[in-house]
Order: sequence, then structure tokens, then C-alpha cells
Amino acid sequence: MLAYTYIAKGDFQLREKPRPTLQSSRDAIVRVTLSSICTSDLHIKHGSVPRAVPGITVGHEMVGVVEEIGADVASLRPGDRVAVNVETFCGSCFFCRHGWVNNCTDPDGGWALGCRIDGGQAEYVRVPYADQGLTKIPSGVTDRQALFAGDILATGYWAADLAEVQPGDTVLLLGAGPTGICTLQSLLLKEPGAVIVCEKDSQRRAFVERRYPQVTAVGPEEVREAVAARSRHGGADAVVEAAGVPETFRLAWECARPNSVVVVVALYDEAQVLPLPEMYGKNLTFKTGGVDGCRCGEILEHIAAGRLDTTPLITHTYPLSRIQDAYDLFEQRRDGVIKVAITPDR
Ligand SMILES: [Zn+2]
Ligand SMILES: [Zn+2]
Repeated sequence: MLAYTYIAKGDFQLREKPRPTLQSSRDAIVRVTLSSICTSDLHIKHGSVPRAVPGITVGHEMVGVVEEIGADVASLRPGDRVAVNVETFCGSCFFCRHGWVNNCTDPDGGWALGCRIDGGQAEYVRVPYADQGLTKIPSGVTDRQALFAGDILATGYWAADLAEVQPGDTVLLLGAGPTGICTLQSLLLKEPGAVIVCEKDSQRRAFVERRYPQVTAVGPEEVREAVAARSRHGGADAVVEAAGVPETFRLAWECARPNSVVVVVALYDEAQVLPLPEMYGKNLTFKTGGVDGCRCGEILEHIAAGRLDTTPLITHTYPLSRIQDAYDLFEQRRDGVIKVAITPDR
């Protein structure tokens, strides 16, 4: 089968590989019917994910059809349409029992697919702990609707929860990239009173204004004023930082009102500074980290009910045989690309 493969830093290639086979009684083999490229794939390509293993098939955002299951897989049958979770988790360790699946202590726990073990930019993928890592797609939900449920939408949904938004709150979201938009949709489910989205790219701001007219989209130079004008208590009631540069890290806590929650889901290229003397007395709560992706079922229910819709993020579609072109487009952010979907060739 064809599999897009991490060869070395800066070098991904489409290779012919054997189809994956079951390695454990809790595995499933999934025929990939739609996959996508994530910014994290580019991080691997650029050599900034040290645990990524050369030779693996990349890709961790995909949906497909179950082809084969191990003897101990209980919740799935061959033929089931499934969303694949970015995270592999055992479901029984201390962290999994608390829902903190990103810290699952299993050797394959956390982000393994397309990083430490073969992922889904291929015709087939082996998914360990299939009962945990796969979620059946409701019958009315298409592959394109479900594509991001296990990764960027899971991240946005989780981030919106961490922010502890109450109905009527003023919320600041920094960053309107793909994960930012998924976070925005999840924040809107909480019925905030006002949402301000800060994004420096004017095309992305225009996308937000067009799709979410109830939201105020501003550039970084206007954000302090925009938040102040819409806040009753000297700042945003909740802040989510999904942009990942020093300027947005600073804006996140500066624009937060005292005693609010600042959620940091962005990935940074370098360490950030928390100037504690400057923020002394603001009594902020910071929450950080990577998604605990174990609520895919809930997310798919929201999609089925029309409350979440990430299909507008898919701006381009390429067959697997042309995935190199898709990467070039995505990496260089040409042609207004937000997300690229990859379809099988046959
Ligand atoms: Zn990802
Ligand atoms: Zn676990």
C-alpha cells in the first residue's frame, strides 16, 4: 500500500509498504477513507518532534472503515465507520481513569500514531487499543464532517471546557488557525456574551467575520481596546491562547480580568516568560497542555445535531498519490488554504 513516510529531517516520501496486520488482541486495522495534514506533521518534518521515529508513516487525523479487529476488541465490528483519535490510551491506568488520557502511562500512550508508530496518511492504519482509540461515526455524519473529531476539534472542545466559560461571559480567543476555529466553535456552545478573536492574518480574520458574525475579529494592535470595550470587570472572563508566539502569550494574561482562567493550548518554538511581578495580584489560573482526547463520542453527537461543523475548514482535497503537492500547499499557506483533505486513490 502507499504510505507517506518520515525519512529524515526535511524529507517525507510516499513509499510502498506492506499492509499493517494485527499485533495485539486489542488492535484494529482501519481502511483510511479520508485523512488530513496537521501542523504537527510539519513539526515532525522540521525535526522539532524529537520522539518521532524515522521510517514511520505520518498522519494522525483520519477517519475510515474497520477492516479487522483483534479478539479482545469489544465495541467495534468490521465494516463500522470510525473516527480515529490522535491519542492512544489504555483506558485503565491512573491517568486514563481520570480522563487525563494524554498522560496514559502505556508505552504507546499519548500521541503515538504518525509519530512513534505508523499513522494514517496511508491506505490502512493499525490502531492499538481500538476500543479507546476509535469512535463509531453516527450514520448521518459524513467523513468530511467527522475528519477533525479526533484531533484539532478534540483540542478545541477540550480547551473550551478548560476555560470554564459561563453563559454571558466575555471570552478572548487568540489565534484563528484551524485549531483556533475549532476552539471558537466549541466556545460558542457555552453561550458566551461576547467573543473577541485576535488574529493577525487578515484572510483568517475575514473567514471568522464571514462565518461567525456574532464574533468580533481584530488584529493584535486592537485587541486590548476591543476586550476593554466588551468587558464589565476590567478584562476577559476567560482567555484561550491558540496562537503560539510571545506577543499572544503576553496578550493572553494582560487581557484577562483578575481571577480568570487563561488556557494555553498553543505550541511555542521557544520558552515563554511569566513576569510574575507584573501580574501579581491578578490571581490568574493558567491551564496548559495537550488535549485529553477522550470525548470523541460527544463531539460526534454535536456534529450529528448540527451544533459543530468544521467542514468549512477543508479548503482543498488531494488524492494520496499527490500528497506531496498537498504538503507543499499547506506548508507554504498558498491559495487561502486552511486544511487539506486526502482521499484514497481507489
Ligand atoms: Zn494534529
Ligand atoms: Zn492509560
